[in-house]
Amino acid sequence: MGNRYLIVGGSAAGMAAAHTIRKADETGEVTVLSNESHAPYFRPMIPYIITGKKSASQIILNGSGVFTADTINILTGSKVTSVDPAGKRVTTGAGDIFDYDRILFSSGSRPYMPEDIENLGVDGVFALKTLADAEAMAARSETTEHAVLLGGGILNLKAAFALLEKNIKVTLVVYSPEVLSQLMDPEDAYLVRKALDEAGLVIKTGCSARAVISDDTGVCAVALDNGEEIPCQMICVGKGVIPNLDYLDGTDIRIDKGIVADPFTACSKGDTFAAGDVAVTHDPATGDKTVTALWTHAVEMGICAGLNMTGKKTAYAGTMGIMNATQVADEPFVAMGVVHTRDKDLEVHTDRTDHYFRKMVFSPDGSRLVGAVFVGDITRAGLYRYVIREKMEVERFKNHLVNHTLHYGHFL
Ligand SMILES: Cc1cc2nc3c(=O)[nH]c(=O)nc-3n(C[C@H](O)[C@H](O)[C@H](O)COP(=O)(O)OP(=O)(O)OC[C@H]3O[C@@H](n4cnc5c(N)ncnc54)[C@H](O)[C@@H]3O)c2cc1C
Repeated sequence: MGNRYLIVGGSAAGMAAAHTIRKADETGEVTVLSNESHAPYFRPMIPYIITGKKSASQIILNGSGVFTADTINILTGSKVTSVDPAGKRVTTGAGDIFDYDRILFSSGSRPYMPEDIENLGVDGVFALKTLADAEAMAARSETTEHAVLLGGGILNLKAAFALLEKNIKVTLVVYSPEVLSQLMDPEDAYLVRKALDEAGLVIKTGCSARAVISDDTGVCAVALDNGEEIPCQMICVGKGVIPNLDYLDGTDIRIDKGIVADPFTACSKGDTFAAGDVAVTHDPATGDKTVTALWTHAVEMGICAGLNMTGKKTAYAGTMGIMNATQVADEPFVAMGVVHTRDKDLEVHTDRTDHYFRKMVFSPDGSRLVGAVFVGDITRAGLYRYVIREKMEVERFKNHLVNHTLHYGHFL
């Protein structure tokens, strides 16, 4: 009998690992346990389920890119409730038992629902994480005139645009002084903010929700901590995520804000591995331990874990704690590495225009690039990422970094 590979969670990291294992070990048995009811799908596309531009069957993972191998046993509706790393056995909520030779923890994260907001459990309150959430939001949107979104991060901005597209009025309630506060300093978000205002999003900063008000239709208003009450028929909470770790309670797998993975994606117990949003890895820009929340990183780490699980020792390059490349309201932006620079001992160069914003952040002695933010024009961002990730000494081409004239030849 071949090796038995067990994977907890069938999303970016888990499915990338499963397919990598399948290709590297043809005789092994690969089983993916997923607690979702849908077959694995491309999570970043779920906003299109809200708008109706895509159906569930159009965003499933099998058959594209790295997700092409078959003969992987995917069991949906299977929630892992406990793991015995010594006995190499897991148990599911339904009482099923699976023995394994090697296991991957790729259980990702779930939305954080703040306990200090009263009455969050009523109908019409969502957090956009799963395909099922998107389907439920799509259904509720049919009777929604006004949606209030709590939190100004990238996921809520995606939800906001999906709802705006359906001609629903959207108000964003943001505790921070500006949107995207995790990804840039408030004064650096001016172009994004302008684009959001022009798109018709109502943004209230510096306040937060205190309670959800409901009637027999579910949510009917939200009460803010500044005394304001906003009538609405839908709320979406985007207050960050927490790792899915409960099934590891009582084990001696090392946890520190996530499952701690070594540079070869292995956990603290033999034959256990971790990848994706649930894993703690290293940030090549800062050297710090970090968790990330990006599909591409989860896939890269999942592939790496898959190789390591089949005995092909492969180091993982790490992920930048802050790294995001996306677009809101037609305004593309990239934020990576050290991006918050207020009152910090760093060398910072900014280029602020009406069409684009660029920020280059260097180490205090100016010898290394440690972070960058691009809004409006993201050309060459990949080169900057390379320079940060490889911790390059930049003296030779620093003026090109600052003046945005860097090209690949400068590395040769
Ligand atoms: C709306 C939205 C838009 C996004 N857009 C982008 C984007 O544009 N670009 C980008 O790079 N990233 C984007 N992301 C982030 C990206 O989707 C995540 O970083 C990525 O999905 C992480 O993959 P993962 O495999 O680590 O974990 P997850 O995708 O979180 O999957 C983990 C899976 O494990 C399951 N699970 C958890 N516990 C158990 C258990 N006990 N037993 C069995 N199964 C379990 C979960 O239900 C889930 O299916 C977006 C995310 C969302 C929600």
